[in-house]
Amino acid sequence: MSIDTASLALPRVVTEHARQFFIDGRWTEPSSSATLDVINPATETPVAAISLGTAADVDAAVAAAKRAFDTFSQTSVEERIALLERVVAAYEDRMDEIAMAVMLEMGAPISVARQRQAPAGLGHFKTTLAALKAFSFEQTMGTTTLRHEPIGVAGLITPWNWPLNQSALKIAPALAVGCTIVLKPSEVAPLSSIVLASILEDAGVPAGVFNLVQGDGPTVGAALSEHPDIDIISFTGSNRAGADVARRAADTFKRVSQEMGGKSANIVLDDADLETVLMRDVAKMYVNSGQSCNAGTRILVPRDRMDEAAAIAARYVDQLVVGPPADEATNVGPLVSEIQFDRVQELIESGIAAGATLVTGGTGRPEGLSTGFYVRPTVFADASNDMRIAREEIFGPVLTIIGYDDEAEAVEIANDSDYGLAGMVSSADHDRARQVARRMRTGMVHINGASANPAAPFGGYKKSGNGREGGEHGMREFLEVKSLFGDLS
Ligand code: NAD
Repeated sequence: MSIDTASLALPRVVTEHARQFFIDGRWTEPSSSATLDVINPATETPVAAISLGTAADVDAAVAAAKRAFDTFSQTSVEERIALLERVVAAYEDRMDEIAMAVMLEMGAPISVARQRQAPAGLGHFKTTLAALKAFSFEQTMGTTTLRHEPIGVAGLITPWNWPLNQSALKIAPALAVGCTIVLKPSEVAPLSSIVLASILEDAGVPAGVFNLVQGDGPTVGAALSEHPDIDIISFTGSNRAGADVARRAADTFKRVSQEMGGKSANIVLDDADLETVLMRDVAKMYVNSGQSCNAGTRILVPRDRMDEAAAIAARYVDQLVVGPPADEATNVGPLVSEIQFDRVQELIESGIAAGATLVTGGTGRPEGLSTGFYVRPTVFADASNDMRIAREEIFGPVLTIIGYDDEAEAVEIANDSDYGLAGMVSSADHDRARQVARRMRTGMVHINGASANPAAPFGGYKKSGNGREGGEHGMREFLEVKSLFGDLS
């Protein structure tokens, strides 16, 4: 394997431990010598190689987690608050390392890696800490006590698009309630999790409480899903893998929570200021090069304002700087992998073939970027909701604008989706926007551009998943509830 020069910027801890797993409080050697190159999407060359875990590595990690559970599940809330406070402090010291690892493993522009990706993970530890301080693990109902107890060993399976955001959203609540953990990050973007393991180690997370096994889905992901000593799988990723996890988990009756895809609709009502709303929301859609599960990728506008909407969106998109992630000026970096590049090219072709108007962008690479998985930021107008570009999650910088005749039709189009993760609605009349928001079949709705509240539950209806993450709801996913009848004090 030849290492490209960009790897010089890889955090030392990643270079040191890329080929190892973190099991029972130590960096350990894998059971197999098989490795997988991690490709820097900007250069198409390996930036590191990880070891591919096996079922034996999973067994060792689960055994350590199971042993550690006996003690860790009995720790006091105060002890776990102190632990999470140390994690927050250790994480704050390592923000640059995380940003660099994320940039190199999945191509996020450095500004996005520093200002969004790294802080997002930290934010989940802070939000969970606040939720833990406010949470009551016991409630009384007359002479009955309800006790919330940690469910046990948690298997966490995460995707590549917001790598540390997704893993922190699971690790923080699991630790907060006293569960022990085996994390399998995406094999496509596994490097930032090595920094995270080191942070948890430095923060004094007890041996066996957090374990990291690298590897692919069909081997390590499947072994976790089937494992008899794992009590919950918390999964984020595609529908295909999510369904497989649930099937494999069925025989052991473990709890499965799934956060999956989205095709979120953004309803711009006829009284909204089109220019203001589109400039704001189109910008949000292109963050992380469109590789976000909750991106508002279907914009719904009054049919008679389609041309105007298309022109505004194109004006925004055409000034985006597509380029190398290491460049501070870059807004849109490469897509994560060749597979994603090919998939997005194919979906853009399908939009053209289906008769949507290609307003800007299109297939092929942006000018001057012949190496790296760069895609041209693309806007389709006059699309209909039955086209693939309106139904499938593209996971790239591709926006689809769809026209509607009246409010009822807008809601109908928004809800006509296999997914139900997020929604957006804008109107000059706040009550009207609220009424529409209530009719949207999604787990979250942003009214008039409001940002998400990280303490509020994150998750979706329909094929977008089962369960909720973040804040108190995120902790509840990792808890069992016990009724103690006749518990007289
Ligand atoms: P993916 O499903 O290919 O992989 C996700 C994880 O699952 C990886 O760790 C992978 O190794 C593992 N995996 C794959 N096959 C498996 C199997 N058979 N058994 C067990 N584990 C398996 O998804 P991806 O391409 O990494 O991520 C993109 C997807 O994630 C998109 O659909 C996106 O919408 C979704 N996503 C959802 C959310 C959310 O919160 N709803 C957030 C981010 C990403």
